[in-house]
Formats: sequence, structure tokens, C-alpha cells
Amino acid sequence: MSFKPSDLVEHNSELLKLLTQNLPDMLWVKDVDGKYIYANKAICDGLLMAKDTLEPIGKDDVFFALRERESNKNNPDWHTFGELCFNSDKVVIEKNKAMKFEEFGNVKGKLTYLEVFKAPFYDNDGNILGTIGAGRDITELKKIQTDLEKSLKTLAKHKELLEYQENHDSLTHLPNRILFLDRLHQAVKIAKTDNTKIALLFIDLDNFKEINDSLGHDLGDKVLVEFSKRIKLKVKKIDTLSRLGGDEFCIILNDIKDIIDISDFILNCVEKIKAPFKIDEHTLYVNMSIGISVYPNDGTDANVLLKNADAAMYRAKENGRNQYSFYDEDMTKKAYERVMLETQLREAFENDEFIVHYQPKINAKTNKFVGMEALVRWNHPTKGLIYPNNFIPLAEISGMIIDIDRIVMKKSIIQFHKWSQNNLNHGKLSLNLAIKQMEDKSFMDFFKKQLKDKEYLYEKLEFEVTESQIMANPDEAIKTLEEMSKLGVSISIDDFGTGYSSLAYLKKLPISKLKIDKSFIDDLPYDFEDVAITKTIINLCENLNLDVIAEGVENQKQVDFLLANGCENIQGYFYSKAISADEMTQFLKKYNKT
Ligand code: C2E
Ligand code: CA
Repeated sequence: MSFKPSDLVEHNSELLKLLTQNLPDMLWVKDVDGKYIYANKAICDGLLMAKDTLEPIGKDDVFFALRERESNKNNPDWHTFGELCFNSDKVVIEKNKAMKFEEFGNVKGKLTYLEVFKAPFYDNDGNILGTIGAGRDITELKKIQTDLEKSLKTLAKHKELLEYQENHDSLTHLPNRILFLDRLHQAVKIAKTDNTKIALLFIDLDNFKEINDSLGHDLGDKVLVEFSKRIKLKVKKIDTLSRLGGDEFCIILNDIKDIIDISDFILNCVEKIKAPFKIDEHTLYVNMSIGISVYPNDGTDANVLLKNADAAMYRAKENGRNQYSFYDEDMTKKAYERVMLETQLREAFENDEFIVHYQPKINAKTNKFVGMEALVRWNHPTKGLIYPNNFIPLAEISGMIIDIDRIVMKKSIIQFHKWSQNNLNHGKLSLNLAIKQMEDKSFMDFFKKQLKDKEYLYEKLEFEVTESQIMANPDEAIKTLEEMSKLGVSISIDDFGTGYSSLAYLKKLPISKLKIDKSFIDDLPYDFEDVAITKTIINLCENLNLDVIAEGVENQKQVDFLLANGCENIQGYFYSKAISADEMTQFLKKYNKT
């Protein structure tokens, strides 16, 4: 048997009324159009503001909300629930599904949260007749919840602050000893796993006690803050600068490849500290002593490393302050030698101490002079002639190679032009070109400037670029080399066979010559492997239509082997060492006669 919703009202027993009218929760029954069939006292008072529980029957939520809004036109937020409730009824009917959710809106202008449960109800045939619902005002609960969330957030912030304070120095805001030791343990662990090196720098200011005593602690504090700011600028993100206390600072440098990384870092810091500290009306000069221990050389454990860095710092102090000292004294010596060399190298530029020597290249078959390689020498005022292997590696790291190559380029082009003017057949001039040079944007302009009014020389020039340097940055190299090649300059790959050339790149590069490295020539014709490699390179050149030259050729047997296998061009002591420009003039004269 099916029944109408209105039958329900009649079926309302006194017991049901008794039960629902006295509960604090809002309870109701509505038909499919959202019109009340039943409403208890709680909803009539709390949400609808109906006169009594009979008034809502046959009316919907929108009606009551509109009525309230009408009566309170001065407050548009007086009652916003009507449409909300009406719509959620519709959703329940459309989805034919019970739902529990929160609705919030304004009742009498006050933000009110309701926790609502709504469900469809059916006749005996399963047709939806309307909805039943229950609502509970949870505004207070919400408020408590929001307050609680706020308190938790504040608590978390306090905790964070406390943790920060526990791990940081309040003056400089740098990590303190606790955090530093933690980081050091971590760094050692990582270095152990990755098989890398780390350096620990223990820094102590030299004259801090005097500053504190004579100018007061406030000023001393300002010096420490300024000091830490300056050093921090030089410390990479992955590394740690910390203040252990007083005027003691510690730095962890991760992933150290070479002693040079450490001394360069120290020099950078010294440079930063050198500038006077202008604090209040005072101008102060701050010096520091640094002790360094290296993992794993000077200890494989954080505490040992710290102890040894500290000991090294004391040695630096004993040695006269404003110094740095490695725990391993040999390293201190090496680092200082390297710094000295760098300083002297810079002076060498100022004093024009770089000169160029030239090594001939001869066609062994025709005995004709085919060219020469310009090789730099450092004419040191006290040590005499220094060969490139002693300073090129450092020049490459420090970037000075760019200037060195430019000096060689400038001087040798002037000299080459002179030989031309004197009608001496000089073949081609080969210049060694460091990859850094190719990456330098001003290089092409510099190069063209050297050849201004001597454009005929473009075709007489050849750049030697080492295989490993090209392969380190092949795409970039191709661009510069192509530009060079367009000008008529030839490109030769130096030390060929020692790098890992990809044939694909070899084909892409605008090169015209491969230079077989001396290491393959040395044991010719006896070493089986060298014989095979040399023959392979010569064949490769034939197939790729490239010229080939052998370097480091010292004896007749080597010349014979090379000639027999198709490599005619030869450079090496067999013909001549690299010689001065004057000696080369004589050499050219001799060869020009043959
Ligand atoms: P490299 O380009 O492979 O130059 C050949 C080196 O082998 C030169 O040494 C040369 O003197 C030496 N050599 C030539 N023939 C023989 C031989 O028969 N026997 C022996 N034992 N050695 C021979 P050098 O002049 O000491 O130059 C060493 C390296 O320094 C050069 O190797 C080159 O890579 C670099 N270099 C020299 N001058 C410059 C330059 O101006 N710029 C750049 N970037 N590098 C240069
Ligand atoms: Ca070379």
C-alpha cells in the first residue's frame, strides 16, 4: 500500500512529537519540493524563526530566509541559509542518496555552522516521497577547532624557533657548535660513501681580544657579525660556515678535488677580509689564522678532524698569525708554492716575461720546411726559462691561460709577418688554443684585430686544439671552430689518440689535420701496440681526407717507420727543439736554400 506525505502528519503519534520536540537537534521531514511536512521546535526556533511548529508545514526554507531578509534589509547577511538548504535537499533527491555534510551561512547576521544529515524516504513501492533531515549547530565546536589549529600553528612556530635557537648562534645566526658537529658527521658519512674528500677549516681571528678589550664588547660583536657576513658570501650552499663560540669559526668544504680548491677558497676569504671593517667611527683591520684538516688524509672521524684542524690552527698562530696551516705540513708547503706561483705568474704578465719559441715541422720525404709550432716559455728573472708544463695547468685553472695564449698569438703573428716580409718561406704557424679561449666571447674580435692589415696570414695559421678539450664541450667548440675555419684558418687536433674522440664529432668538426701524440711515437717501431695505433691514425686520416703529423719524433728509426706508413710531416727533436725567433730565422734561411 502506498501513502502520501501528508498521511505522515496524521500518523504523527504523540510519542514521536514528545521525542522530537524536546531534543536539542533540529529535525524535520520535507516533501520532494522541499516543503516542510514536519519541523521540530529546535529548527523552528534556531533556523526558520517560525511562530510555532505548525507554521513551516507546506513552506520551504527559501520562504523563511526571504521573510527574515525582508525584515532586516539593513543587513544583507541576516539570513543566508534558505537557498543553501533548499539546494542540498535537491541534491539528496537527485542522487537518491543519504548525505552528511556541513553547511554554513548566516543566521541573524552571525556565521553559523550546521552539521547536517539528510536522506530520502520512500513509499512502499520505492518512490521518493521527500527527505528527512537532522541538523546540529556546531558553530561553537568550529570555533574551538579553529582556535586549536591556530594554537597548534603558533606552537609549531615556537618549536621551530626553539630548535633554530638551539642550533644557531644568536649573534651571527650561523649554525652553532651543535649543528656544526651534526653537519660534520653527515659530511663525513657522505664522503665515505661517495669516496670524496672534505676539508675542515678552523678559523680564529688574530686580534679579536685586543678589539674587545680596547673598544668594548658591543663593537667586538659587530666585528664578528661583519666578519661572518663577508665569509658567508664565499661559502657555497652545500658547505657549512658555523660559529663555534667567541671568535672561532669553522667551515666544512665538501667534495674537494684538489688542494687548490682549498687554497683558492682561503684566498677568496682573505681577499674579502682584507678590506677594512668600518664599524661606528672606527676603521679596523681583521686578520685570521686558519687550520685545515682533510678527510680522509688527516682523520676519518668528525672529532679527529676537528681536533686536527684546531691543532693546525695553533701552528698557524705560532708561525706568526695571519696564516693558514694544513695539519699535514707537506700540504701547507704545496699550497704556498702554488700561491707563490700564481702571484709570480701575475707579475710575469706585468713584466712581459712570456716569450715564444718555435719548433719546426718538416716534410721528411721532401725535406721541405712546412711550418712551425709556437710554444710559450716563461723567462723568469731568477729561475731562467720555465717550460709550459710547470705553469700551464695552473694558468688553465685560474683562467690566466686566456691572457697567455693572447700574448703568444700577438707576439708570434708579429714575428711571422716579419719573416714573410723578409721573404722567408715559413709554412704555417701553429698556435695552441685552450678551450677557455674559445669560450671567451671577446676572443674572435681579439684574433681579428691581430690580423688587421695582415689578412693574407689567415691561411697561414693553424690552431691546435687538444682532443680532450674539444670533446669536453663539442657543440660549443664546433661553433667557434667553424667561424675560424670560415676565415681560412686551419684546425688541427693535438695529442690525438689520448682522448676519446667520437668519430661522429670528428666528421662534424671543421678540422684538416690530426697530430699523433708523442706517447705513441716514443717506442716506435718496437712497441706492438704503438705501431698498431699509429698505423690506425694514419689510415683514419687517409679515409677522412685529413692531413697527419707526428710529434715528438727523435730518431731516424721513427722517421723511417712514419714515412713507410704514409706520415710525411714530422715535428720533433730529430729536426730541432723549439728555438728562439732569432734561431728560427737562421733555421729558415738554411731550409730556404734546400
Ligand atoms: P704540445 O702542444 O703537445 O707541444 C709539444 C710539446 O712537446 C712541447 O713541449 C715540445 O717542446 C715538446 N716536444 C716536441 N718535440 C719533442 C721531442 O722530440 N722530444 C721531446 N721530449 N719533447 C718534444 P713544451 O713546449 O714544453 O709544451 C708543453 C705543452 O704546453 C704543449 O704540448 C702545449 O700543450 C702547452 N703549451 C705550450 N705553449 C702553449 C701556448 O702558447 N698556449 C697553450 N694553451 N698551451 C701551450
Ligand atoms: Ca701543440
